Parts: sequence; C-alpha cells; structure tokens
Amino acid sequence: MSHPLEPIYALQKKDRKLIKLMRELRDIPQRKSDIEAQLSGSKKKLEMALDSRKHTEATLKEQELEVASLKEKVTKYKNQQMEAQTNEQYRAFVKEIGTVEDEIKALEEKEIQLMENLESGKAIVAEREEKLGGEKAGIADELAELDERAEYLQEKIEGMKADRNRAAAGCDKALLQKYSRILNNKKDFAVVLVEPGGHCGGCHMKLPPQVTNDARNPTKIVACNFCGRIVYNPPERG
Ligand SMILES: [Zn+2]
Repeated sequence: MSHPLEPIYALQKKDRKLIKLMRELRDIPQRKSDIEAQLSGSKKKLEMALDSRKHTEATLKEQELEVASLKEKVTKYKNQQMEAQTNEQYRAFVKEIGTVEDEIKALEEKEIQLMENLESGKAIVAEREEKLGGEKAGIADELAELDERAEYLQEKIEGMKADRNRAAAGCDKALLQKYSRILNNKKDFAVVLVEPGGHCGGCHMKLPPQVTNDARNPTKIVACNFCGRIVYNPPERG
C-alpha cells in the first residue's frame, strides 16, 4: 500500500513554494515604503522652504496693515493740527506726526527687505520642488517594477492555491489537520524525512531506532521526539 504521508509530503512541497511567494508579496509594501523613505530628506527640506515662505508672507501682510494704520494716524493728526488753538499745540502735532512718519519709513524699509526675502524664498521652494520631482522620477521605475511583481505574484499565488487545494483533497483529513497545525507552528516543515544515519530531517537529532522503523510503516504516523515534526522514511529513496 502507498504511504499516507506520500501525498502530504508532496503537498508540503507545494505549500513551501506558496509560502515563499506569499511572504514575498507581503513584503512588497514595506520595500516600497523603504524606497519612498529615500525621499523624506528632500520632502522635509521642501516643507521647511514652504514654511519659511509662508512665514515671510504673513509678516509682510502684518507690516502692510501696520503701515496702513499708521498712515491713518498721520491723517488724523494732520486734521487735528489744522484745528490747533495754540502754537504749542501745533508744534506738539508736528512732533507726533514726525515720529509716526519715521515709524512708517522704518517699516517700509523692512518691507522692501521682506519682499526680497520672499523672492528668494520662492526661488528656494521652486528649486527644492524640482529636486524632489527628479528624485520621484528616479524611484518611479523601481516602484513600478514592484507593483508589477506584486500583480504577478497575486495571480501566481491564486493559481498555486487552487492547485494546492486540489492536492489537499487527496490527503487523509486527520493527517492533513495535523500537518497544517505543525506547519503553522514550525513555519518551515511539518513532515521531514529520516536522514541517513537515522537523524531527524528537521532538527537533526538522532532518532530512536523504533521511530526510524515506524516512520517507514504506512500504518503508523510518528513524530520526532525532539521537535515534534512528523518523520517519514519512504523506502524507495535514492
Ligand atoms: Zn526533529
């Protein structure tokens, strides 16, 4: 009679290939984000340039409002000056107006500086946008390749799963459950061959002769005493 582990052992070969591809597929998003992370330095620099430009714009806006309100003040003082009753009052307004006009002048000088800053800030933003754009184009091919690979793997895995399920249908149910449980636990193999010299093919410990013999017997399913993997000793091995 054929050994019940024979179809299980064949299934394991399929499952191992399947698991390998599933892991590769699972890791693709991480690989993509690793590649994208290379852009983070340039993204950060662009963000900083944008922040700095925004800050300059806000300061400029504030100063413009400030100048407008000081100009209103001057107009108000000039009106009051015309209504001055005494020379003393008149001179006081001249002094006030002079002070405010000096403030306006200082602010307008600062404005010129700020506008220059804004121009160079805009140039820096443009330069950094261009650099980031170049880097994005540089990694686009790599990302596209990974997307293609993921698509290929997805399809391949589906086909392999169907094939694997057909193979599983030909296996003993209880044995299949046991196999799945061990494979989930061990991640590499659930069924291992007895190595020459009577060693477990999983953990390489020396198996008791009884286990080695039983591993050949189609009516018995035995596990390695050390690692718990099912040991199989097919007689017709080259
Ligand atoms: Zn073992």
